[in-house]
Formats: sequence, structure tokens, C-alpha cells
Amino acid sequence: MNRRELLKGLTVLPLAGATPQVPQSTIRERDIFKELGIRTFINAAGTLTYMSGCIMRDEVVEVLESTSHHFCMIDEVQDKVGERIAQLVHSEAAMVTCGAFSAMTLGLAGILTGLDVRKVEQLPHLAGTGMKSEVICQKSHNERYNHAFLNTGCTIVEVETVEDVEKAINEKTALLHFLNIVSNAGQIKHEEWVALGKKHNIPTSIDIAADVPPVSNLWKFNEMGFDLVFISGGKAIRGPQSAGILMGRKDLIAAARLNSPPRGFTVARGHKVNKEEILGMYVALEKYLSNDHEKEWKTWENRIAHIQNAVEGLKGVTTKITVPELGNVTPVLTINWDDTVVKLTGRQLRDRLRDGHPSIEAQFSGLPLYHYQAGSDSIDPAVAETLKGGNLVRVTAWMLQPGEEKIVARRIKEELLTASV
Ligand SMILES: *Cc1c(COP(=O)(O)O)cnc(C)c1O
Repeated sequence: MNRRELLKGLTVLPLAGATPQVPQSTIRERDIFKELGIRTFINAAGTLTYMSGCIMRDEVVEVLESTSHHFCMIDEVQDKVGERIAQLVHSEAAMVTCGAFSAMTLGLAGILTGLDVRKVEQLPHLAGTGMKSEVICQKSHNERYNHAFLNTGCTIVEVETVEDVEKAINEKTALLHFLNIVSNAGQIKHEEWVALGKKHNIPTSIDIAADVPPVSNLWKFNEMGFDLVFISGGKAIRGPQSAGILMGRKDLIAAARLNSPPRGFTVARGHKVNKEEILGMYVALEKYLSNDHEKEWKTWENRIAHIQNAVEGLKGVTTKITVPELGNVTPVLTINWDDTVVKLTGRQLRDRLRDGHPSIEAQFSGLPLYHYQAGSDSIDPAVAETLKGGNLVRVTAWMLQPGEEKIVARRIKEELLTASV
């Protein structure tokens, strides 16, 4: 096949005007996963980066494809999309970033450099530049994703009380950062955090990467007065996995843009999002906002109920449905068993689901999801021990494709029955 035919073959979706419909090309028919021996699976675990996150909405895939046939200026795409997103989330400004992590690096880089190109080029070497160099956050909020801030050259100062904050603030303080998912843990709550920032004239930020639903979180923290808000595009919003949104103050977003591609010579040159992903992110957000959220929730509940019903009557098996109060808010089914009746560990059941046909990924302990890394569950011996111990698996339904709940229900039931004495 020559290049022309190949390119023609790529165009199978109806485009506005120009491109004629052509027959499906072999590239679409190719099962590239199979060809390379890559395992695909039913995702009953959740929106996990190492499991490739989410299945993008159809509209997003369509926009990725349709925009890929044209050139445009990245800055113009960011300008136009940023304006629209800002309206949708009630912020002054916004930009599409390479995920929530990237939004954190870019947001802080912008605070440090302002619109000074020389400073942009100096990052991450802050010494002797006059740039600020410290981020304050509550001890319980200092999670691993804060590494995004370290990339700018800043250090993190942990605090616990309001007094600590007052003491920690100095001329080097760049940002007061808050992690929404653990907001119940810290002594200082959202409004108070924002007030501290306003009092000392220091920007405040919040990481809400995994915090829709509820959909209202998209604007809640902008309205509350946080200067920067970071969210993932590839979790519940089901946009491109390599996209996220930085929203907030106009001057700070402009400065963040100066630190971001297409410009090189910046710490964030590697945080590239192209037109397809920027526009895909926009469409994903638009679609997410216009979702019937109640209906979607009901779908998740029905699927979970289906799996629960399949295993509930089994001897020695108990089930429970919970909804996390914060972060990845979706119904979670915990399936527990008496290991004198069902001879299995949680890990064994998880592995059998994984090794079965079709392959299924489930959660299998109460530990925070980020402890799981493909093939490296045992980095921390204490974690490994806990993982072996539990006689339980957990499943979620929000990343299931329609009908997959039936397969998940059947497979879990089969394995529990097979292991029953
Ligand atoms: C997922 C997540 C991130 C990282 O988000 P990406 O969009 O994958 O970069 C940051 N913080 C929290 C709390 C998260 O859950």
C-alpha cells in the first residue's frame, strides 16, 4: 500500500465537508493488541493510570480523529479552548495541560516566573534569581503527586495548624497548596486555607484530580476563591488520558502558558499536548457537563447490584456497597469471604480474574489505589503483607462497558464456587 492509500484509509469518520467517505482500511481491522501480545481486560478496578485510565467518550475519539487532519497554531487553540473552558468552570482563565500533575508544575512555574522570560529559562534553578522557592501544605496533604512542585525547584514546607502556616510564611513562599481528597484529614479546611492566602497575598491552589463526580466540584473551588485548581482529564471526565485542566486566575494562567509548550527552554517542554488532545479535552468536558449525572449514577448502581446479586447467596460470602466520601466517588462493591469456607486470598482471586478469559482487573484490598503498581505490589513489605492477608476483593462499575458487569459477576461467582469447600 502506498502512502496516499494509507492516508486515505485513515479517514473513515464523516468530516465537515472536505474528505470523502472511504472504505475501512486494514489499519482499523488490525488487532494491534493481539499482534503484539498485549493483554486487554475488563476494568472493574477504576480510573488508574497504570491500567490506561479510562475509555474516552466516543465524541472525544471523533474529535481526536477529525482534528488530526489539519494544522493550526497551538497558542490559538489554547486561547480559544481556554476561554470556553473558563466559562464552563466559572474561572477567570484556563488551559489544557498534560494531566493534573502537569497542571501543578505549570501553575507553580507561572507563579514563580510571572511573565519574565528570563526566569522561565532559569527554572528549576531558583537560587540567586529572586524567585520564590517554597510551597506550604498541610502534612497530611503532602502526597506523592506533590513531586510536581519539586520539578520547579521549589521545596515543600509541611504545616499542621494555622499558627504553623503563619510561622512558615516568609518572603520565599510561593504557594499554599491543598489536596482535596484528604480534606477531612488536615486541621485546616478549604475556606480557611483560602483566607490565609488572601490575608498574606499568596496564591492558593487545590488538587481535585480525581474529584468529579460530583460535577459541581468543577466550579466549586474556583468560586470559593482558590487561585489555581488542578484536575485530570482522563478520569471520570473520560477525556484523553494525557490531558488535564489548569484553571484559575488570569495572570497566573498566562504565566503558566509562558512555561508550557510550544515554547522550549522551559521545565515543562515535555508536558506537550497537541491540538487533538486540547480539543479532545474540551469536548470531553463539554460532554461531561451535559451528562445526565443521575442517570449515569443509576447505571453504576445497577451494574454493581448485578454483581452483588450474583455472589451474595454464596456460602461464607458477604458483600457491602460503599461510596467513598472523597476522591473517585463511585459505588464500590466489597466482596468478603470466610476463608474456612472459601479457600482463597484476595490476591489469589484477583490473579485468577486477571488470568481468566476474558481477563478482568479488580481491586483487592482497602489500601489506597496508588499503592498498586503493575508487578510491584511488594515495594513496601508492610503493604505486601496486607495485600496477602485480606479475604476480599473490591470492584467498581464506572469503567465497565455496557454488559461487562455480567461477565464480572459470572467470573467472580465461578471462582468463589470453585474455591469453596
Ligand atoms: C490522578 C491524580 C493526580 C495526577 O493526575 P494526572 O492527570 O494523571 O496527571 C494528581 N493528584 C491526585 C490526587 C490524583 O488522584
